[in-house]
Amino acid sequence: SLTSLLSIIKEITFGSFSTLSKNFGTVLNYMNHMNTKVTEKISEQEIDFSKGIDIRNVSFQYPNTNTLAIDNINLHIRNKETIAIVGENGAGKSTLARLLLGLYQPQRGTIIMGSVQNKADYPYISKKNISAVFQKYQRYALTVEENIRISDIKNNYEVLRQLQNVELDTSSKKLPEGLQTLLSREFGGIDLSGGQWQRLAIARGLYRIHDLIILDEPTAAIDPLEETKIFKMFNDVSKDKTAVIITHRLGSAKIADRIIVMEGGRIVEEGTHDTLMEQKGKYAYMFNEQVKWYEHEVQYEKN
Ligand code: ADP
Repeated sequence: SLTSLLSIIKEITFGSFSTLSKNFGTVLNYMNHMNTKVTEKISEQEIDFSKGIDIRNVSFQYPNTNTLAIDNINLHIRNKETIAIVGENGAGKSTLARLLLGLYQPQRGTIIMGSVQNKADYPYISKKNISAVFQKYQRYALTVEENIRISDIKNNYEVLRQLQNVELDTSSKKLPEGLQTLLSREFGGIDLSGGQWQRLAIARGLYRIHDLIILDEPTAAIDPLEETKIFKMFNDVSKDKTAVIITHRLGSAKIADRIIVMEGGRIVEEGTHDTLMEQKGKYAYMFNEQVKWYEHEVQYEKN
């Protein structure tokens, strides 16, 4: 719906995006309108995460497919635990994240978060205190500040705090208009690097009041060094949160309290980096392959 939002903004501004931030009120109204429409159907609930999240016998199949994308998964995520979900493309990682977010309902099984259950035939409940950052993070043609607080009216202090958290505070001070700098060159603003946009997306995720944060391939578009920095930063700021990180880069999964390895919609291994390496199974194989690949890349660049 962000695409349609942007096209509506385009209509409002007749293609003149430099006036966009002046039109922020219009954007907010549109968003509020969207929210009202949605909340007519759902109730918004604050989830109690103190008992963690229970995924019980969950299966999910996309329409018009003949295999299960999620095949009978059982997993308990403890309160304030950081979990990394790894596995090859198509293993079911993103689908599991979407089930956790309540975007899809499992056809079989239950996901229990506090008193709220996600299961087949259960009404969708939007979860106030869950936040998600996806691979295709949005690059809003808004100012730095608006990019973080989006549909929320709060004080600058919180925006600044999140910029500090993602280590963007110094770079944002250097921007011509600081927090009020309009972003996105195509819309008459300034562009950030992929890594900076990613940090901004994480700041946006952290800005919302939440207890669970889900990062789905958050760093696919950036180089491994920047990625390591972002994961270290994320690990620090999510210490008192439950966090689920989906990544196919295993170097970043190391920071998690627990690593879940998925294959064909199932959990095939779980443990810490060290215990999984000792097991010499799927994870150890994938990890060694990635190390080889990186070494090959480095060698290639040297020559
Ligand atoms: P991963 O995130 O590990 O790459 P996904 O959760 O995206 O895996 O995909 C799991 C399985 O579900 C794959 O077989 C994929 O092709 C299928 N799938 C994912 N999204 C859709 C969709 N929107 N419609 C149909 N099948 C899908």
